[in-house]
Amino acid sequence: MQEALKKLCELQEIDSEVSEFKRKLTEIPEKKRISEEKIKKIDGEVQELKEILKNKELQRDAHERDIQQTRMNLSKHKTQLLSAKTNKEYSTLLKEIEWEEKSVERAEEETIMNIMEVEKFPKELEEKKKELEDTIKRETKEMKNLAKQKNDLEKEIKKKRLERENIASHVSFSQLMTYERIRKGRGKAIAFVEGNMCTGCHTILPPQFISQIRGKNKIYTCEECGRILVWHEDVK
Ligand SMILES: [Zn+2]
Repeated sequence: MQEALKKLCELQEIDSEVSEFKRKLTEIPEKKRISEEKIKKIDGEVQELKEILKNKELQRDAHERDIQQTRMNLSKHKTQLLSAKTNKEYSTLLKEIEWEEKSVERAEEETIMNIMEVEKFPKELEEKKKELEDTIKRETKEMKNLAKQKNDLEKEIKKKRLERENIASHVSFSQLMTYERIRKGRGKAIAFVEGNMCTGCHTILPPQFISQIRGKNKIYTCEECGRILVWHEDVK
C-alpha cells in the first residue's frame, strides 16, 4: 500500500503541474489580444492624424482660393471705379472696395495662422508613425514569444501525460478510480496529515485514526473532506 500511496502522490504532483500549465495556456489568447490591441490603437491614431492633416490642407487651399478670388474682385472694382458714371455707382464701388480690402487683410492673417497650424501636423504624424513602427516591432516580438510559450507548454503537457500514464500503470484500477473521483470533486485527491490535522480541510483527526493511517495497510480517507490521507513524512 505504501508504494501505491507514493505513486498517487506522484500523480497528484503531475496533475498540479499540468493544471498550472493549462492555466498559463488559457492566459495566452488574452495576452495576444492585448498586443494586437496596442498596435491597432496607435494605427488608429496615425490614420486620424493623416485625416486631420488632409482636411487642414484642403481648408488651407480653399482659403487661398478665396483670397485669390477676392483680390481679383478688388482689382476689377478698382478699374470700374475709374470709369464710374454716377455718384451712386462710385460710392457703391468704393464701399465694395473697402470691404474687399479689409477682407483680404483679415484673410491673410488667417492664412498665416492656418499655415502655422498645418505645419505642426507633419511632425506630429512622423512621431506617431515612429511610435507605431516601434510598437509593431515590440508587440510582434511579444506575440512570437507567446507562440513559443504556447508550443512549450503544449509539449510539456504531452510529456507529463506520458509520465502520468507510466505512474498510473503502477496503481490498481480501483485505486486510480478512487483518486480520480475525489480529484474531480475536490480538485486535489490527496491531503497530508500533519500533527493531528488533515491539511485538506483542517479537521482534527483522532490519534487512533492517525496511527492507522501511519500503518499504511489500506487507503484511508478524511471523513470531513473525503480526501485520501497520507502521513506527511511518507512522501519525503
Ligand atoms: Zn480532510
